Amino acid sequence: MRNFFLLLVLLLNYSGIAQDNKLDLNYYLPKDVTYNKSIPTPKSIIGHEVGEWHVTHDKLVQYAYALAEASDRITIEDRGKTFEGRPLLLMTITSPANHRNLETIRSQHLSLVESGSSSMNTSSMPVVVYQGFSIHGNEPSGANAGLAVAYYLAAAQGPKIDDLLNNAVILFDPSFNPDGLQRFAHWANTHKAQNINPDPNDREYREAWPGGRTNHYWFDINRDWLPAQLPESRARLNTFHNWYPNVLTDHHEMGTNSSFFFQPGIPSRTHPLTPKKNQELTGMIAKFHARALDQIGSFYFSEENFDDFYYGKGSTFPDINGGVGILFEQASSRGHAQESVNGVLTFQFTIRNQFTTALSTLEAAVSLRTDLLDYQREFYNDARKEAASGGAIVFGDEKDAAKAYHLAEILNRHQIEIHELKDDFTSNGKRYTKGYSYVVPMNQRQHRLIKAMFEKRTKFQDSLFYDISAWSFPLAFNLDYIENASMSRAGAKITDLKMRTPDTPNVSTYAYLMEWHEYYSPKALNMIFAEGLRAKVAMKQFSLEGRDYDYGTILIPIQNQEMNMADLTKFLAKISRETKVPIRGVRTGLAEGIDLGSSNFRAVEQPKVAVIVGDGISAYDAGEIWHLFDTRYNMRLTKLDSKSLGSTDLSRYTDIIIPAGWGNALDKGDAEKLKTWVQNGGSLIAFRSAGRFLERNELMKLNFKSRKDSAVNITFEQRRDYSGAKVIGGAIFEAKLDRSHPIAFGYKNDKIAMFRNTTLMIEPDPNSYNNPIQYSSAPLLSGYISKPNLEDLANTVPFKVSNLGRGQVIYFTDNTNFRAFWYGTNKLLMNAIYFGDKM
Ligand SMILES: [Zn+2]
Repeated sequence: MRNFFLLLVLLLNYSGIAQDNKLDLNYYLPKDVTYNKSIPTPKSIIGHEVGEWHVTHDKLVQYAYALAEASDRITIEDRGKTFEGRPLLLMTITSPANHRNLETIRSQHLSLVESGSSSMNTSSMPVVVYQGFSIHGNEPSGANAGLAVAYYLAAAQGPKIDDLLNNAVILFDPSFNPDGLQRFAHWANTHKAQNINPDPNDREYREAWPGGRTNHYWFDINRDWLPAQLPESRARLNTFHNWYPNVLTDHHEMGTNSSFFFQPGIPSRTHPLTPKKNQELTGMIAKFHARALDQIGSFYFSEENFDDFYYGKGSTFPDINGGVGILFEQASSRGHAQESVNGVLTFQFTIRNQFTTALSTLEAAVSLRTDLLDYQREFYNDARKEAASGGAIVFGDEKDAAKAYHLAEILNRHQIEIHELKDDFTSNGKRYTKGYSYVVPMNQRQHRLIKAMFEKRTKFQDSLFYDISAWSFPLAFNLDYIENASMSRAGAKITDLKMRTPDTPNVSTYAYLMEWHEYYSPKALNMIFAEGLRAKVAMKQFSLEGRDYDYGTILIPIQNQEMNMADLTKFLAKISRETKVPIRGVRTGLAEGIDLGSSNFRAVEQPKVAVIVGDGISAYDAGEIWHLFDTRYNMRLTKLDSKSLGSTDLSRYTDIIIPAGWGNALDKGDAEKLKTWVQNGGSLIAFRSAGRFLERNELMKLNFKSRKDSAVNITFEQRRDYSGAKVIGGAIFEAKLDRSHPIAFGYKNDKIAMFRNTTLMIEPDPNSYNNPIQYSSAPLLSGYISKPNLEDLANTVPFKVSNLGRGQVIYFTDNTNFRAFWYGTNKLLMNAIYFGDKM
């Protein structure tokens, strides 16, 4: 009750509609310390009080450098750039004495995770805390609070702060997502009125697509700690491994009507590889947050809604790396002040809760310092014991060096030791060859992380997941692999990982051939087309000059090209060097199987591709496609806004992609326009929920499976869990491939792993040749799916193509481009683009 009255008083004092001119830094700051006048306040540098405006990233950078300049407690480093060129800053904050001794402190701390750490005295070692803010750019209270937190850490004076800074090294990451923070600050500031209007209908609180949550290519960066495909994550991982923090915090926002959440999350949804002690420590830390929030009258909750399962999130990643990850979620004002069920929620109030828990984190970490350090040591000692039985994982693809390399690259970023293959060998009919395969010893420090990345898991304590339930990397890369290989397969340890470079193409006077297996073969073909050269694709397998060529081999004739023979030879050598795709010259067209002049070599046209983006489209799915074209294949992709399709001349595109969405992106008129465009020869490619649009508008006949079942013995309280358990939130399934179909060109195996996060299922065609990709009869490879869903999914098809006039409509129920790390299915989309007219 006392808290209730306190809250009421605080709401009256602070949460009433903000009077910006009265806003004062003291609103946030503790009163039990004095402040050093020589340290600049945020306002003195950025020109406004914390919470008065949404800080833009450039101003945040300005303040960070000013603080580092003024304070001997802070050093600053620029760890790289976002896609939009913003710096990824890190401030290291500790006592001046510790700063002078920082390398020693760091190397001692790092010894804790190595063997032989048992004799180390943790009572004299500082705790390492990594504090990060606003990884979702439109959850800005964290990054804005960071201004005040950094000021406090630089300016506070007295024994309390001295004790804190002597006993902690703080890795302060002021903005986890600079591009998203900037995008949202622009939005909120652009719409701010002098008389702040908390009406939730105001445009200020309704961001335009794609919103500020994501980074440049519209990725959720807080899913990338494990895949590490984005520059922001890569910089953070370097810092992580440079220090192995004991605590890592991740300050977020959630719905406006909520309160404040801190971990632990739902206990039954903690990943089983996370030690129990991790959750105990999280619970001990939580008491500090509770006390601090009690003192300022703020409401909160824990052990609900959020979980610690997927290791790709900032609050979970540390849990498999010897630390404790903590998620904070503050109800969002999503602007400067917004009405909520708890009264008007002001931006300042949200900032203050983040500020308060940032400080309670530090207080907890210092109080639990030796527990955290001892736990970290124990985590790695236990991991080494588990690892002692040895063994190795071997993975690779004898036809695709790039894909194998990119998985090795991820392991490298996680400081997982990898080795070359000692000798080529064959196992279970799969060939493992040097340069195309790697060996991962199980007996190493990162043993538990290796398990988390490679395991297939199909049994779960809970049937609900905040995020995906499976991410097995060799499946995502569609690589051949052996889980229980012997270390005798291992050659030299790799210290300088490089992608294999193929032999320079031998000079030919007749034709060049390029197989389609390599990951970057679409990039190579795009380079060929960009010079106006002609190319054909082999619809059948053949052998020539003692070598077998698979379906989908690209033929580049020498005669009748825009380039003379010498230039063409040089140009193809350059392509091969840059894309790492082998290209071979041949002297004759007389082959076993189809000859090079056969009509089974079909001309391929240079695609001109557009993707529908904007309102109603999933920015994640659209962004993954944009990122794939732009950063992997260097292919131009036009982003067509869903709202302007009606006024766009579509005839300049050969392919249009509709990513998943919410069903309202395109209207009847758009559908008619697309239909005419397909009938005139276009290829329409749709993903996931866009299949409903195809079906509704008779662009394609799709026979979606449906099951009507009613809840039995499910109470009102259980209803959400009941429906939640029917969701396929993200799991991995096996499908059979018809390798002779153009959608499967470049795949060397007749099975493929598919990532699925939808319950849309389509019945197979009665003619088997129309089902080139079909789920197996028992398709679950890894992840959670309910039993009825699994029964339904068996033998359905995730892909369909049908002709319409002179064009075709192509549909995938699954996401082939998931989060940029599903390298294994990217080629399906590229096959649809390059060979769609041959299906
Ligand atoms: Zn968030």
